[in-house]
Amino acid sequence: MNTIELYRKLLAKLGPQGWWPFDEEYHRINNSDARFEIIVGSILTQNTAWENVKKAIDNLKKERLLSIDGINKVKLEFLEELIRPSGYYHQKAIRLKNLASYLVENYNSNLDVLFEKELYDLRRELLELKGIGRETADSILLYAGSKPIFVVDAYTMRLCNHIPLYISDSYDDVQRFFQDNLKSFFKDEEKLVDVYKELHALIVYLGKTWCRVKPICNTCPIREDCNYYTS
Ligand code: SF4
Repeated sequence: MNTIELYRKLLAKLGPQGWWPFDEEYHRINNSDARFEIIVGSILTQNTAWENVKKAIDNLKKERLLSIDGINKVKLEFLEELIRPSGYYHQKAIRLKNLASYLVENYNSNLDVLFEKELYDLRRELLELKGIGRETADSILLYAGSKPIFVVDAYTMRLCNHIPLYISDSYDDVQRFFQDNLKSFFKDEEKLVDVYKELHALIVYLGKTWCRVKPICNTCPIREDCNYYTS
């Protein structure tokens, strides 16, 4: 199985995942940028399940604080309380405030200006911010900025090993592998971005449900194509 077949099979078996979820209505009513909700989610989701992130985001929405200026102005202690359900709340509150103040000071809270930047220049810039690693930076770039970059995570690495697709412990190598393969097939950039978004979401779903540390292969939708199962 190659990356294109993986994408097609997962999509056919699991359906579109609709990532990254955000509350369009909230941002319309509050005149805030929905892309910032994705940015907040990508930081809150570090080392925790999405259900916990949702609770934290709901708390921010109840207080009408889910905006760049809202996070920038709120007191750190109150922010910590609101995002407590997502775990590591002290660390994450500091990260959110640092990022919000960075966006206020350098981009006048305007995400259009941020995402106008060249992909890899912006990636380098994000990676310089404390608490933003490659997976978080790439999630922001892909899902909030609709930039053509593939997000790699532990689920991707595991799946790559099991099928096998490409065996490496290097984030950059696995990312390059997916990008080179998918880019050569999906020439249109908009389509490519959609495929990157969908495939990462599908891999996460597969990884959470079946391809766990102890895989549940018997009901896995791609077991017939996986060497770990067939052998
Ligand atoms: S068959 Fe098993 S090892 Fe292979 S992808 Fe599915 S869950 Fe993972």
